[in-house]
Amino acid sequence: MVIPDGLIQLVQKARRVVVLTGAGISAESGIPTFRQAQTGLWAQYDPEELATRSAFRRNPRLVWEWYAWRRQLVQQAAPNPGHLALVEWERLVPDFTLITQNVDGLHQRAGSQRVVELHGSLLRVKCFDHDHAAPTWEETENPPRCAVCGSYLRPDVVWFGESLPAVGLHTAVTASRRADIFLSIGTSSLVQPAASLPLEAKNNRIPLVEINPQPTPLTAACNFALTGPAGEVLPALLFKCFGWNWDSGNEGEAGIGGGGHGRFPTQ
Ligand code: NAD
Repeated sequence: MVIPDGLIQLVQKARRVVVLTGAGISAESGIPTFRQAQTGLWAQYDPEELATRSAFRRNPRLVWEWYAWRRQLVQQAAPNPGHLALVEWERLVPDFTLITQNVDGLHQRAGSQRVVELHGSLLRVKCFDHDHAAPTWEETENPPRCAVCGSYLRPDVVWFGESLPAVGLHTAVTASRRADIFLSIGTSSLVQPAASLPLEAKNNRIPLVEINPQPTPLTAACNFALTGPAGEVLPALLFKCFGWNWDSGNEGEAGIGGGGHGRFPTQ
């Protein structure tokens, strides 16, 4: 993988790093993106027609079953080298914000500490009527009921047409405006408002980098576009910039792996 020298220098100098991830970073963990063909039973459904309040109202069992299937996929999956590279990068710089549209919890399972979940999590549930959180629930065919108000439980994710969590969105926008570098990884850059975060960065003259095997509507605006799967490109980038070897578990040239911020003093 050829990493341009200009990008290596930028990455090595950056103290405030913002990364936005989408479903593509989890593709190599075996979790399909929305734009890949759905498989098996779910091939006949359009995700945009299942992930809405009206779909749940119309057919709560169908929507609950779809999420139960996705939860099971996620629980069987493991973080891939792309997730792990971001864990290492976070340890290397004083200010690292990982904003994700993913609902699979794989960044946290990999070890990322500061994750802004813009679209919630498949691994939590809340009730449909009042957002009461339910700490545990049964994986029944029909959605279970809320212990507080009796309405159906639903996944604690942001469905199409719903608002994003205000605090998370504020953190994401603020970080995007003051970064030294902004990376958009594994996202089609079609789902708003997440898709506007790189443009916030661009408007503040922050260099933009995209990692994706396919071009997206953002590609033309990027300073660097690395074409390829995140699970290969991110480890290659971290190796070139910091000498990090994901598969050897060694500490690399920059002393990575010793905890704390290897290259910069903590502010
Ligand atoms: P998307 O499905 O719209 O786009 C996925 C993007 O990833 C595409 O541009 C594709 O080219 C790229 N991609 C595919 N394989 C890749 C790889 N190995 N490395 C890097 N990039 C790769 O996903 P989106 O932009 O995240 O937006 C759709 C919505 O789907 C989001 O709201 C998200 O919450 C939801 N979603 C999440 C998950 C998950 O949590 N894993 C899975 C499916 C969908």
